[in-house]
Amino acid sequence: MAMNTKIIPPPAVIGIMGGGQLGQMLALAARSRGYSIAVLDPGTPCATGPVADYVFTAAYDDLEAAQQLAAISDVLTYEFENIPAPVVAALEAHSYFPQGAQILHISQDRLREKQALEAAGMQTAPYRAVSSGDELRQAAAAVGLPAILKTCQGGYDGKGQHVLNTAADVETLAAGMDTPGRWILEGYVPFSKEMSVIVVRSPADDSQCFPLVANEHRQGILHRTEAGGGWPAGVEEQAQQWARRFAAEHNVVGALAIELFLLADDTIVANEIAPRPHNSGHWTIDGCSISQFEQHIRSLCGLPLAEPVLTQPTVMINLLGQHMECLLAQWAKLPPQAYVHLYGKNEARQGRKMGHINCCGTTLAAAAATADAVETILRMRCCGEEG
Ligand code: AMP
Repeated sequence: MAMNTKIIPPPAVIGIMGGGQLGQMLALAARSRGYSIAVLDPGTPCATGPVADYVFTAAYDDLEAAQQLAAISDVLTYEFENIPAPVVAALEAHSYFPQGAQILHISQDRLREKQALEAAGMQTAPYRAVSSGDELRQAAAAVGLPAILKTCQGGYDGKGQHVLNTAADVETLAAGMDTPGRWILEGYVPFSKEMSVIVVRSPADDSQCFPLVANEHRQGILHRTEAGGGWPAGVEEQAQQWARRFAAEHNVVGALAIELFLLADDTIVANEIAPRPHNSGHWTIDGCSISQFEQHIRSLCGLPLAEPVLTQPTVMINLLGQHMECLLAQWAKLPPQAYVHLYGKNEARQGRKMGHINCCGTTLAAAAATADAVETILRMRCCGEEG
């Protein structure tokens, strides 16, 4: 371990910017090891509040509130990538904030993000920066159709995106681009699977990757993650090597997820990064020797990282607002290998992430069969939910 690694033993205070479900699961992992938790979130209430020792209710750009959080925290972390990077940079100057602002600055802008992925040696979709109708026409000619136009900043879970299939689609969008803005046009990647890999890197430059997982999205939101191997030769190794290299080149501390596409010829393409624990890593709570949350805490606190080992194949299903009524009505019918995690959010809005279910089995097929049964019980396989 490097000499300058800062060791933070309990009951030190871990200050979390962002109090959603990721903050809650980080806090639960840290509390069980004896740490104290402070959280800053604009929501009243926020999901992390009930498991935190100190709660600051303030907007993320409220520097004074962020400084109060920093003043009582021994180490700071963020769980939400839209925390303003300048606020993180300001805190970093006087507090221990090992994740830092630089990786946020990159991940908050799709153009910078794509450039960073390419610079780290990863294959990406062909892309062009676009800031006017004319540039969109030129970009479409360069990357080809179909293509996807994405806003550079502020889009998430598929929001702020337009699929362009025909020259007429390009013309319609180009003609309407009369307000200044920054976009990126990406060639459509004909993927056979969506995947993600999570790496956790420590300040001592150690890094550990979680197993590569397969993801299925519905309406732009992660629906299901399958963890249990079975990848074509070399695919998982390639993804993990990219993740390690990217994390090292950008001095990442803590968890970083890379979302990827698998192509028919078994090559892979990097889509985007998230410099924090990731929804596709929730399965690690029940299916891995260490969870992504505990590993993230270990890296912040200067502890040696554990090697993540898959202990049982696991299929994770997200629970959204529209599933809650059925979940509670069918509560006792869920199979015992389906471990339900609820975040305690009081308002079950359509599309809002309320919890997840980890379905475990001795084989991936068994875990998937349990997940299929859960989807049927929760009516996720009908009523237009499949799309
Ligand atoms: P993103 O916000 O970049 O994660 O995109 C949301 C979803 O849109 C992804 O999970 C993919 O299903 C799809 N998508 C995004 N970019 C592309 C692309 N270049 N080619 C094909 N599908 C894409």
